[in-house]
Amino acid sequence: MAEDSLYQLLWNGLSTLTGALFGSEEERKDPAIFALSPPLLREIFDLLSPIDQICLFLSCVKFYREFEFAVNYDEFSFPRLLHTNTQPSANPENVPRNQLLVRLEDSRWAFCSACVNLHRRKEFTPRSALKISPFKRRCMPNAGIVDLCPCASVTYRDCLHIAKYLRETSRGNPVRKPRARLRQVFGLLDLEGQRFWVHRCFALGDANTKVDLSYGLILGDRPSLGIADGPLTLSMLARYTIHCNPLAPVADKPVFCCPHQDLLDHIRSGEQWRYLPCGVRIFGPRSESDSPSESVTMLVVRPLGNGGWPAGIGWH
Ligand SMILES: [Zn+2]
Ligand SMILES: [Zn+2]
Ligand SMILES: [Zn+2]
Repeated sequence: MAEDSLYQLLWNGLSTLTGALFGSEEERKDPAIFALSPPLLREIFDLLSPIDQICLFLSCVKFYREFEFAVNYDEFSFPRLLHTNTQPSANPENVPRNQLLVRLEDSRWAFCSACVNLHRRKEFTPRSALKISPFKRRCMPNAGIVDLCPCASVTYRDCLHIAKYLRETSRGNPVRKPRARLRQVFGLLDLEGQRFWVHRCFALGDANTKVDLSYGLILGDRPSLGIADGPLTLSMLARYTIHCNPLAPVADKPVFCCPHQDLLDHIRSGEQWRYLPCGVRIFGPRSESDSPSESVTMLVVRPLGNGGWPAGIGWH
């Protein structure tokens, strides 16, 4: 056999073999699912479960763009515990967000049931946590979600992110934009050289009790307010103004400033200040109007961690 013929035979044989194993060049560029018409693709998409829809949506840029406006399920969003007025589910395996994130686990990312998020596997402390069921797994012993107000729930990692952002910007260092989920809630404010992440909220209270909550997250010590754990201490400085209708029945919907204290209870106690074992300090109430029962203001200082890793026992 001439050398040219042998070469051609070998070339054709290898082409057939690689085509059978990996598909032809053309097929690899254009998988069959990409050839489906948009209406047919949309029909298939509509038949999938929400979790399968999101997995398809995340599988490539083409489907991401195709279904970007179709994928919007509240059940997969980060939890807002105060907002929904529910506690974390007793059966985490039944929570859609948990099911989705477990499905998205891979060799690099693992689900944390305490933060309700994916973390890099190397960040779990201790590493043996990766061996237990994902629905019971925690990235660190004191991990968890803290509700600052009905629109802002943060993990300990969020607080480290905020603290790092504040520290680097105060030094004038270039920083990446804050996480989108946090940017949606917080604005940045410079006040006499002190940088805050600020938020204002009217979502607390009920028909008879309106609560105007303004707060800032600050980094640094404030000895006058009892914050002196070190330069990385992140704290929430909050001003609660509570407007009550004096003719209405006593409000039965609590106004929590932390998981342990209902501010309406504090007002009813008649005390002018309170220090809680969790580190929260309440100053007031002070009357804001002629009629003391109509409008009162309290200042609340809530520590959010000293920046160490992992989270300390006081994180919650
Ligand atoms: Zn976690
Ligand atoms: Zn809010
Ligand atoms: Zn507390």
